[in-house]
Amino acid sequence: MGPFFRLQHHSIKITIILGILLALLCSFGGAGWYVISTIEHKLYQEFAIERAELTEKIATAMAEPIYFLSPNNAGLILTLIKRDPSIVSLEVYDKLNEMPFINIDIPQRKSGMLFRNRTDIVYGKINIGELNIVFNNIRQQKEMKNKRELMVKVFGYTFVVNLIIMFPLVHFIIFRPLNRLAQQARNFQGNELDQAFHWRENSEIGLVGRSFEMARTAILGLIAKLRKSNDKLAKAAVTDKLTGLFNRHKADAVLEAEITRARRYGNQFSVILIDIDYFKQVNDKFGHQTGDMVLSLFAKLLLKHIRKNDLAARWGGEEFIVVCPETGLGKCNLIAQKLRKAAEDAEFPIVKKQTASFGVAAFTAPESLAQLISRVDAALYLAKKSGRNQVVQSPFVNGK
Ligand code: GH3
Ligand code: MG
Ligand code: MG
Repeated sequence: MGPFFRLQHHSIKITIILGILLALLCSFGGAGWYVISTIEHKLYQEFAIERAELTEKIATAMAEPIYFLSPNNAGLILTLIKRDPSIVSLEVYDKLNEMPFINIDIPQRKSGMLFRNRTDIVYGKINIGELNIVFNNIRQQKEMKNKRELMVKVFGYTFVVNLIIMFPLVHFIIFRPLNRLAQQARNFQGNELDQAFHWRENSEIGLVGRSFEMARTAILGLIAKLRKSNDKLAKAAVTDKLTGLFNRHKADAVLEAEITRARRYGNQFSVILIDIDYFKQVNDKFGHQTGDMVLSLFAKLLLKHIRKNDLAARWGGEEFIVVCPETGLGKCNLIAQKLRKAAEDAEFPIVKKQTASFGVAAFTAPESLAQLISRVDAALYLAKKSGRNQVVQSPFVNGK
């Protein structure tokens, strides 16, 4: 593959510019060369005829002076000859007396190309002499030079006019839209989809540009849709469907994050594990649907009474967990008491009264999440055992 292929591959613009220049140069150059060579050919044909005619004329004029051996009679003709600047030298040979008759040489005229014409001088029917004339082509050279200069001027003007006409056409119809299209393509490659491109052109470039634009808006639409459904999915992944609280998965993640923070920066945090009392009886007495309704209302009650930074989640079944960041055991105990009282005081539809039991524990380094949960579970178990509707704190593991 030659450089031209690579050029084409690289840039349509360079290929078009080179193509236009080459086409103009070839056509004008070719036409100019043809015209000039035709003119030159004709000029030299005429020059050959002129030379032959002049030679014959001089030979005829020389016949009598040679025959009567009177060079003076040739004088007038010679002055005329001298006036013709194309004659470089003239030689008349007298064959009757076998001696040169006239020999004129003008060295300052010896320039350009030289052409020699020869003819016999005949008087009556006798060959009495020979004429040799050397011509230069100064006049023809000058004429050709003028013609060439004119040709170059005409060529130059036409070339420039052509460029002036071609440039705006090529620029506005091809180059400018092509640049925009290239910019659009680069944006696509770089995943930059914010910039809109409006195409008014009905050309092929406009068609491709509009298709790009349609693809861009379609992609943006799909991205927006995808984001929305991703957000939905992400929310669903951490939400408990029945109560609308966070689910256990989310609670686990938050607890892990709290433990990491507590270990790294010494932050404290506490948890409250909640279990609704005798919930099985609710289902048994009033049905599963009523049970669901109670769970849902209990969740709302939790949300209503916890602080903004606390996290309430459904731990499973009729069990809930509240994570209280930056909260020590004492403060957490107060929150649990508040929740217990709120549940106790609440009036639930159908079931009317519904209490719950609470276990409370503060994280104590270096225990694990499983150890913390096991402690708070033990506290809850104690609350159940002690008659339910109670809050029980887990002592610190290290006995403090
Ligand atoms: P305790 O005071 O000892 O906790 O007694 P309890 O009856 O609450 O405890 P138990 O573990 O025996 O029963 C829990 C009940 O919770 C059993 C189960 O059917 C019910 N339950 C768990 N999840 C749901 C739910 O999503 N909807 C309904 N309606 N009931 C649920
Ligand atoms: Mg339970
Ligand atoms: Mg229970």
